[in-house]
Amino acid sequence: MDFAWTAAQSSLNKKIAEFAQNELGHDLAARDRGQIFDSAGWLRCGAMGLTGLCAPAEYGGGGHDPLDMLAALEGLGYGCRDNGLNFSIGAHLWGCVTPLYLFGTPKQKEYFLPRLSSGEWIGALAASEADAGSDINNIQTSATPSAQGYILNGHKIMITNAPIGHVFIVLARLEGKSENKSVCAFLIEKDTPGLQVGPSLEKMGLRTAMMSEIHLQNCHVPRENLLGAEGGGTIIFLQAMEWERGLILAPALGTMQRQLQVCQARVRQRRQFGQAIGQFQRVADKIVDMHMRLESSRFFIRKFAWLKSKKRMAQLEASAAKLHTSEAWIHTSQAALEIHGGMGYITENEIERDLRDALGSRIYSGTSEIQRQIIAQWLA
Ligand SMILES: Cc1cc2nc3c(=O)[nH]c(=O)nc-3n(C[C@H](O)[C@H](O)[C@H](O)COP(=O)(O)OP(=O)(O)OC[C@H]3O[C@@H](n4cnc5c(N)ncnc54)[C@H](O)[C@@H]3O)c2cc1C
Repeated sequence: MDFAWTAAQSSLNKKIAEFAQNELGHDLAARDRGQIFDSAGWLRCGAMGLTGLCAPAEYGGGGHDPLDMLAALEGLGYGCRDNGLNFSIGAHLWGCVTPLYLFGTPKQKEYFLPRLSSGEWIGALAASEADAGSDINNIQTSATPSAQGYILNGHKIMITNAPIGHVFIVLARLEGKSENKSVCAFLIEKDTPGLQVGPSLEKMGLRTAMMSEIHLQNCHVPRENLLGAEGGGTIIFLQAMEWERGLILAPALGTMQRQLQVCQARVRQRRQFGQAIGQFQRVADKIVDMHMRLESSRFFIRKFAWLKSKKRMAQLEASAAKLHTSEAWIHTSQAALEIHGGMGYITENEIERDLRDALGSRIYSGTSEIQRQIIAQWLA
C-alpha cells in the first residue's frame, strides 16, 4: 500500500477542490437555515463527473479506481463546505449507482446509469422502516408476485434524497419465500403509481441534504425492475453498505483538513493573556489531536480503498473506517468550535454547522454500535 497519491490522483484532488471552492457552497448559511438543496450545485457536480464517479465509463461514469474516487471525494470535502450536498452525493453513489452497476442487467444499466452518472437523475436507497433500523433484516414492506411483476406495499423512513430523487432502490420482502431468501431489491421511478414521497423532514444537521418517507400502496413494479436475483436483496444491501461505510466519509477527510487549517490560523492570531492562544499547551493539544484524528482516519479510509482497488472484500475495514472517521469528525468539529470560543457557538460564524452535520455520521449507514458489532463478529 502506497501512502502517496499518484500524480494523476493529486491533480484530480486539486482540480475537484478548486472546483468545489469556486462553484459550490454559495448561500450556504441561508440554505442551511431554510433546508434548501443546492440543485444547481448538484448539476455542476454532475458536469465534473462527481455524480458518476463510481460508474463504469461505458455507462457515462468515471470508471475510476477506488483510490481515484477517494482523491476526488477528499477534494470535494476540502473545497465544499456544504456537507449536506457532499452527503447527498454519497447516498446517490453508494446507495444507488453502485448496486446498479454491480447487479443491474445490461438493460437496467443502459437506462439508469447514464442519467444517474450525469447528475440529471438523483438516486436513493430505501431500506429503513419503523421497525427495521439497525435490525434491517426485519423489513416488513411486502412484494406480492403478480402477472407482470410485483405489487409493493409498505412504508420507508429517513430516506436521503427521497424528496429530490428520480429513482429509488427499495428493499421489500417477497411473500411466500423463506425468511433468509425473501428480501428483494426493486428499481422504482418516482412517478410510478402507488409510490408517494412524503414532505422533507427537518433535521438538526445535514440540512441541505433532503430526506423524507416513502409510502408504497399497491405499487406495481414490472419484473424487469427487479435488481439482481429474487431473494438477492440482502446481498445487494450488504455490498452497497460495504462501499458506503468505506467511502461515505471520504469528503469528511477534506473537511477535517480544512477545519484544522482554519483552527491553526485562529490559534496563531487570537491573543489572550498577552499571547497567541496556540501558545497555551491545552489549546495546542486540541490542534495536535485534530491532526492525529485526520491522519488516522485517512489511514482507515485509504486502506479500504486500496483493498477495493485490489478487488478484495473489505467489510471489516469498511466498518472500521466508518466507525473511526465518524467519531473523529465529531470530535474535530467540537474542538474547532471550542477553539473559536463563543464565536464558534454563534451560527453566523459558520463553525457550529460542521458539528451539527457531523453528528449524524454516527447513525447513518449503521450506527457506531452496529459497526462495533460487525467488527467484533470478524475479530472476537
Ligand atoms: C442523516 C441520516 C440519513 C439516513 N439515510 C438513510 C437512507 O438514505 N436510507 C435508509 O434506508 N435509511 C437511512 N437512514 C436511517 C439509518 O440507516 C438508521 O437511522 C440507522 O440504521 C439506525 O436505525 P434506527 O434509527 O431505527 O435506530 P435503532 O435501530 O432503533 O437504534 C437505536 C439505538 O439502539 C442501538 N442499537 C440497536 N441495536 C443494537 C444492537 N444490536 N447492539 C447495540 N446497540 C444497538 C443503536 O446503535 C442506537 O444507538 C438515515 C439516517 C440518518 C440519521
